[in-house]
Amino acid sequence: VVLAVRGVIQGVGFRPFVAREARRRSLCGSVRNARGSVEIEVQGASDTIDDFVTALRTAPPPLEIHRIEAREVGEQAEHGFRIAPSTTGEPVEPSLPADLAPCVECAREVHDAEDRRYRYPFTTCVRCGPRYTIVEALPYDRERTSMRHFAPCELCRAEYGDASDRRCHAEAIACPTCGPVLEFLDARGITLARADAALSAAAATLREGRILALKGLGGFQLLVRAADTTGVAELRLRKRRAEKPFAIMFPGIEALERVASPSEAEAALLLSPEAPIVLVARREAAAALGAAVAPANPRLGAMLPSTPLHALLLAELGEPVVCTSGNMSSEPLCTDLAEALERLAGLADRFLTHDRPIVRPMDDSVARVSCAGVELLRRARGYAPKPVARVGDDRVILALGAQQKSTVSLVQRGRLLLTQHLGDLGHPAALCLLERTVEDLLVFFAATPELVACDKNPDYASTRLAERLAERFAVPLVRVQHHAAHVAAACAEHALAGPVLGLAWDGTGLGDDGTIWGSESLVLDGALVTRAAHLAPIPLLGGDRAAREPWRSALGALWLLGEEVFERRAGAWLSASDLRVVRRALERGLNVVPCTSIGRLFDAVAALLGIRDRCGFEGQAAMELEYLAETSQEDGAYALPLSESDPRVADTASLLRSVLEDLDRGSARALIARRFHGALAAHACDVAQAVGLERVVLSGGCFQNGLLARSVRGRLEDLGFRLHTAQGVPCNDGGISVGQALMASRCEVPGTRHGSEAMRAD
Ligand SMILES: [Zn+2]
Ligand SMILES: [Zn+2]
Repeated sequence: VVLAVRGVIQGVGFRPFVAREARRRSLCGSVRNARGSVEIEVQGASDTIDDFVTALRTAPPPLEIHRIEAREVGEQAEHGFRIAPSTTGEPVEPSLPADLAPCVECAREVHDAEDRRYRYPFTTCVRCGPRYTIVEALPYDRERTSMRHFAPCELCRAEYGDASDRRCHAEAIACPTCGPVLEFLDARGITLARADAALSAAAATLREGRILALKGLGGFQLLVRAADTTGVAELRLRKRRAEKPFAIMFPGIEALERVASPSEAEAALLLSPEAPIVLVARREAAAALGAAVAPANPRLGAMLPSTPLHALLLAELGEPVVCTSGNMSSEPLCTDLAEALERLAGLADRFLTHDRPIVRPMDDSVARVSCAGVELLRRARGYAPKPVARVGDDRVILALGAQQKSTVSLVQRGRLLLTQHLGDLGHPAALCLLERTVEDLLVFFAATPELVACDKNPDYASTRLAERLAERFAVPLVRVQHHAAHVAAACAEHALAGPVLGLAWDGTGLGDDGTIWGSESLVLDGALVTRAAHLAPIPLLGGDRAAREPWRSALGALWLLGEEVFERRAGAWLSASDLRVVRRALERGLNVVPCTSIGRLFDAVAALLGIRDRCGFEGQAAMELEYLAETSQEDGAYALPLSESDPRVADTASLLRSVLEDLDRGSARALIARRFHGALAAHACDVAQAVGLERVVLSGGCFQNGLLARSVRGRLEDLGFRLHTAQGVPCNDGGISVGQALMASRCEVPGTRHGSEAMRAD
């Protein structure tokens, strides 16, 4: 019998597992990596083979079996069971293992003075270590990874060939004799120390308060002692990142628990092989640490060492470090030393690097645990490029995503793969990375797109690239409305085929009518999208600049309440002469776009409450409004009446009027913030009851607001609705490409092989 096994099985010890299970049952045959599958040829009694197949189906994690296909072949003379060389050729189902943090055994070995891998930072086995960041092509074998530059020594070779060894067929196998070597350099690129001495020198440099650039798994990171407020302030200055929270890496979970109180689920996530940055509640005692690292934020982005290199460095240092990407804000990571020395000049004092090439950049993932489970806010290391969904379509679909938090989705053979977070396309370097990532995907998985999907916004760099790709491959381009894509992303993840109500609440997205949307209640039914409800728009001044300048949203909100209110309050932000100019602009609609976005409404309320009128980073005002609302002892909700029209429109002016009345009355700002959140949760209920569909999907960047997500979900569930949220796919624009791919698959596009209305049941 020949078995073709598909799943996340290459590079995670599947072939040795198969060999062990076969030999245990005295079956003869072979196992080999093919492109996109693992092929097993096996001979023996049929019930023994059935038993063997059952064992394969229940393979332990990190193995993930998606499908096993069997076909009969004639008997061949085989003695014993062997791991055969890989084959290459046929098109593949896109699945590949992600990079995984050190397993327990590897973590133990590097701290064991008796072990031959003692203090060796590139220790891995079949269960852990680099994967996607070192793979150059499929199938996953050493000669097609960046480890091909290192010839294994005799001892490593023996372990690789020993079926009873944890490193049997560990493609990234290495040791101090044969593997990659550390190097410690000054800012001019002059080597100061090598190998183990480099590790100690790097720890010493951190102890002295310097900023270290570290070549991590997927790119250079900047490290500084977290407790060193001067050092952290210096890093902020150099990175030009005044207030945005930094993630902290702790040497171990005990060190983390001294300053934060992770729940059981959060601790499990921190300790998982994916080892993302997890948002955890900060302890009171950690106020000093938090003030510099995450100002005005009750949470910390915490992580544990994600590679043996990080583990060794932090163990030697014995305290937490700020660990942030080695770049200016939201540019892609530097991956090689020459680039890092140039781009990080002036940012880092010293460099700790090594000679294992990084094939593709990979940021740290960011996750949180909510009542729904684990939710990824940035999907990268540990998760990418694992498939996130199945799509009932055997066409090859390429979706290019949005402008911010760029990602790419590829559908091939019915499986949807989502790339890692690529950054904001406003940076030329991020656009280059997007182009490179698309080429990489197409070559890697031997994919030729039959459909290309993008946003409806013609100004997105991703849209322009999609247009060029559609032309190059002479295939149709499907433009998917931003908020429909948000809802569809969650539908794809949860395999929701029938009609759903989707609440797509976010900062900005181009609507079908050319205005800015962002409070959309959409009904998705196959390819059909109906706008069921939205908030009444506010006139938004200055377009894109409004996201950084909440006072612009506040002025729009005041204008909505009439001239008298506007005149009385707008002076808070404008001089008398500027006020006249703005007034004229609003009257004539010059440089003013109607905007239904809930993100901008958060900005407006934050500015009206005097919390913040300028943002240092995206979403800062809204975050502060959320944290303030959380401190309110009292609950409540402002009225937000919903019209009977089609689509239904919620009376934003009424809500804003209540906010101002409370403000004038001298009500606590925390309570006002709370009642504002309450109004939106009640609005969700009004819409859901008016639409009457059982399934409700929450998506869009506003649901990164934990309080909002919790209250909307809680109230809808109390009313009997079934809730789904984006979880493995980010609810922010990082998930847009997934939704675009699904919507494209649902479209009947003339000139393609076929479309498919519904999703195939798994
Ligand atoms: Zn391991
Ligand atoms: Zn070796």
